[in-house]
Amino acid sequence: MSDRFEHARGLVWFRTDLRIHDNTALHRAVQACHSVAGVFIACPETWQGHDEGDNLVAFRLACLRELQDALGDRNIPLYFLELKRFDQVPEAMAQIAQKLEVGAVFANAEYPVNEQERDQAVRAALKEVDIPIEFSTDRTLVSPGAVKTNSGDAYKVFTPFKRAFIEQCGGTDFSPLPAPRKRETEEWPSWLQVKGEENLRQTIPDTVDGYSAVPMENGRLLGWQPGEKAALKRLKAFEEQVDAYEDERDFPAIDGTSKLSPYLNAGALSVRQCAHMALECNRGRWKGGSEGIDCWLGELIWREFYTHLIVAYPRICKHKPFKPETEAVPWSSDELAFRRWCKGKTGVPIVDAAMRQLEKTGWMHNRLRMVVASFLTKNLLIDWRWGERYFMNQLIDGDFASNNGGWQWAASTGTDAVPYFRVFNPYSQSKKFDRHGEFIRHYLPELKKLSDDEVHCPPPMEGYPPPICDVKETRKKAIEAFADLKK
Ligand SMILES: Cc1cc2nc3c(=O)[nH]c(=O)nc-3n(C[C@H](O)[C@H](O)[C@H](O)COP(=O)(O)OP(=O)(O)OC[C@H]3O[C@@H](n4cnc5c(N)ncnc54)[C@H](O)[C@@H]3O)c2cc1C
Repeated sequence: MSDRFEHARGLVWFRTDLRIHDNTALHRAVQACHSVAGVFIACPETWQGHDEGDNLVAFRLACLRELQDALGDRNIPLYFLELKRFDQVPEAMAQIAQKLEVGAVFANAEYPVNEQERDQAVRAALKEVDIPIEFSTDRTLVSPGAVKTNSGDAYKVFTPFKRAFIEQCGGTDFSPLPAPRKRETEEWPSWLQVKGEENLRQTIPDTVDGYSAVPMENGRLLGWQPGEKAALKRLKAFEEQVDAYEDERDFPAIDGTSKLSPYLNAGALSVRQCAHMALECNRGRWKGGSEGIDCWLGELIWREFYTHLIVAYPRICKHKPFKPETEAVPWSSDELAFRRWCKGKTGVPIVDAAMRQLEKTGWMHNRLRMVVASFLTKNLLIDWRWGERYFMNQLIDGDFASNNGGWQWAASTGTDAVPYFRVFNPYSQSKKFDRHGEFIRHYLPELKKLSDDEVHCPPPMEGYPPPICDVKETRKKAIEAFADLKK
């Protein structure tokens, strides 16, 4: 081993950072260690407790398989271990690190409360066996908490957060880190026994306990090609389109957004890679450049904002509304109405088409996420946590911070949320953003023959239900329910 390395062997603990390019923990490990291996630990019982569904887990495992190939090409083996819960990880990690005789473990920080607790416990367990672990900032552009108000507090409102982010961090160099070069071949065991029965192995399964495999069709999962290569290809393609983002992003029938969220959430792509691409196109400017690019960079800052919020206000991770007084909203527990919403059978075409997009592709356009969330929480007055949970269970891009942030925004329970008296009218949204009903017809073929006018609000007909509620009346009731909280 040459003197330039701190350790003979190092271990990278991969989690939601399944890529070789611009991966801070991996980069740190290859700089510090002569020989490097990776490990991924599945905890399906905890994942289920976090409402992560089949689509998300299948996509994650598919990305992991591609990562294993890419690491293999560089002589970095990737091990896989299936446990049940996060609380089993510390002991297992200490055993793995000892048995593999590594000098240090490297990982990228994760921010929801349970993940942070797990990581602290892993740090303590590794300390017991004298092995350090280094956590890097990687999932966000800057470490949550780094952007502060003048008095040193966390921001609660997006616009000042964005302004401060640009002022305080806008000059940071977000150039991506290189992928590791091919390493010398090194002997690593092909498997190990960890925690009695569990085996650390070098094969990655299609699914894990309690989850159903999602079939791949032509290398795609619900139409999404998993992995880092596909992510980079999509980022490159979006570069050609990003100028038009502001004009096109609200129309679900157009492919006007990047559709990078599944990759960002699995970590097949980093947010730095996204910011770097956009800044390069915008001559280094976060604002004052192309309107489309400014706007897209703003979305990346929303993602930062929501992650910063869960760290600054961890109660959000415990199913609590940001505004405690909204705990008293008299939410309905109409399970039948909820099921109709889930299945896209509310009789409100834009809502139903959106919910079917979610079911079919594991993804939903942002404009429609706002529309269906508003419809559930305001028109049906159903608890936002039901919707949050269902989304997490279906989404291929499920991310706790953004999902919770989006739901609390729509339900007016969050900080900087939509004011409770501004309730989306789904029919106006439909006419405005899907004027000719192209999106609706795509997902609701039963409405194919209706005119452009009728398709937004069909007349009574066979094969499509009448509206589940009167949107004007229910809007009024929701506003009253929220107004009552102030009395
Ligand atoms: C109710 C609700 C639930 C949501 N749940 C999730 C979720 O689980 N996971 C998730 O990644 N996003 C979620 N979002 C945010 C947003 O809808 C998606 O990030 C976006 O639709 C992804 O599509 P895209 O990659 O084409 O985004 P683009 O428009 O191309 O934006 C680029 C990236 O910026 C980030 N971004 C964009 N909009 C937002 C936003 N409003 N909040 C936070 N980050 C944003 C995403 O990482 C996105 O990939 C939710 C929004 C709402 C209203």
